[in-house]
Amino acid sequence: MINIRAVRVMLSLLVLQLAAFYPRASAQTAQVTVIKCGRLINPVDGSVVQNAMIIVRGDRIEQVGTGIAIPAGAKTIDLSGYSVLPGLIDCHTHVMLQPEDERGAPPVITKSQAFRTVQGVAAAKRDLEAGFTTVRNVGANGYSDIALRDAINAGDIPGPRIDASGPAIGVTGGHCDESLLAPEFHHKGDGVADGVPALMAKTREIAKYGADCIKICASGGVLSKGDAPEATQFSDEEIRAVVNEAHRLGRKVAAHAHGATAIKQAVAAGVDSIEHASFIDDEAIRLMKQNGTFLVPTIYLGDWFMENYQRIGVPEFMVEKARVVMPAARQNIARAFKAGVKVAFGTDAAVYPHGLNAREFAIMVKLGMTPMQSIQAATTNAADLLGWSDRVGSIAAGRFADIVAVSGDPVADVTQLERMVFVMKGGQVVFKK
Ligand SMILES: [Zn+2]
Repeated sequence: MINIRAVRVMLSLLVLQLAAFYPRASAQTAQVTVIKCGRLINPVDGSVVQNAMIIVRGDRIEQVGTGIAIPAGAKTIDLSGYSVLPGLIDCHTHVMLQPEDERGAPPVITKSQAFRTVQGVAAAKRDLEAGFTTVRNVGANGYSDIALRDAINAGDIPGPRIDASGPAIGVTGGHCDESLLAPEFHHKGDGVADGVPALMAKTREIAKYGADCIKICASGGVLSKGDAPEATQFSDEEIRAVVNEAHRLGRKVAAHAHGATAIKQAVAAGVDSIEHASFIDDEAIRLMKQNGTFLVPTIYLGDWFMENYQRIGVPEFMVEKARVVMPAARQNIARAFKAGVKVAFGTDAAVYPHGLNAREFAIMVKLGMTPMQSIQAATTNAADLLGWSDRVGSIAAGRFADIVAVSGDPVADVTQLERMVFVMKGGQVVFKK
C-alpha cells in the first residue's frame, strides 16, 4: 500500500526546493538589455535628462540614470537619437468595439461576440503598437475583455496589459443597456440590473468572473438611443450599493457621466473616476477636487466623429446629440483643467479606430494642459488611477520594462507621440520603426 502521507511530504519538499531554485536561476539567466536614451522624459518629477541609460533585466527595469556601469554580456538598444518615456496608459478604451459598431441596429444583430473578439485581438495589437502598453477596458460583453487580457498575459497574442471591467453596469434602458432592437427581441446589455439587491449581485458576479475594475453608466450617453446625456440613471441608493460593493471587493469604479448632476451623484457615491464629464460645472469640479476623483476626458473622439459619421452611416439621433454635447464638453473640460482636477488620459478608442489613441494629447494641450501634464496624465496619473503605480507609469527600478520612444521632443511638440518609433513591453521589443 502506498503511504499517501509520505508521498505528500516528499512532494511538498520537492515543491519547496523547486521554488527556492527557480527564482534565482531565472534572475541569473534573464536577458540583460541596456537602453541608451537621447532624452529621458521622467513624468514623476517632470524632468528631462540627457543621455541616461536604462538597465532592463528580464521583464523589469533594474536601474536607470547617467554614468551607470553596463553589466557584462548586456545587449544594447541605441535610442540616443530619440526621446524615451514610460509606456503610455489609456484609461478608457473599448477593445471589443470598432467604429462601424456605432451604425445602429445592424451590428447589434449581425456581429457575434466571437467575431467582435477576433477584431479585439487586432485592435489590442494596434493600441500596443501606438505606444499604449497598458489600457483600462471599460465595458465588454461576454467577458471578452477578460479573455483577451488572459490570452495577452499568457503570451498567446500581443497586446497591452489590460485592466478589464467586463460588462458595464447600468439600469434598464440606460446607456449601458442595448436599446436599438424592437421589444420582441428581449435584448439587453450583460451588465443591466435594477434595484439595490440586483445591482449588488451583478457587481459580485462581474468580480466573480475576473473583472479588475467596475464600469458603471451614471448618466445617459451620446451614442445610445432614448437616454439623455444630462440625466442621472441610478437612484442614490443604487449607485452607492454598486460602489460600496465594488470597493469591498477591492475593485475601483469608473463612472460614465456627462451631466453635472450625474457627476456629482457619482462623486458623492465615491467612484474613482468620472469618464467624459461633458457638462461638468464648478460645483462638480470642487467636489472632485475635494474627493480626489480623477477626470478621464475623452475629447478627440468628437473631431473624428464629426469628420466621419456620414461615411460610417450612424443614426441621425446620435449626430444630433453629438452636436450638443461635444462642443460643450470642450469648454467645460478646459475649465476643469484650469481648476486643477486630477486628470488621467482616456480616449474612447472604439468610437474611432484603435491605434489613433495618441491624438488625444494635442487636444489636451489645446484645452490648457502643458505637454508634460498631458504626458503625466497618460503615465503617472493613469497608473495612480488604476492602482498600478508599483508596476507601470514610470521608468524606475522594479517597474515593468514598458518603454517607448519617439523622434524629436514631445515636451515641445506633443504630436510626436502620435508617431511611435519604438515600443517595449515587459522587456520585449514589440514594435520598431
Ligand atoms: Zn466609452
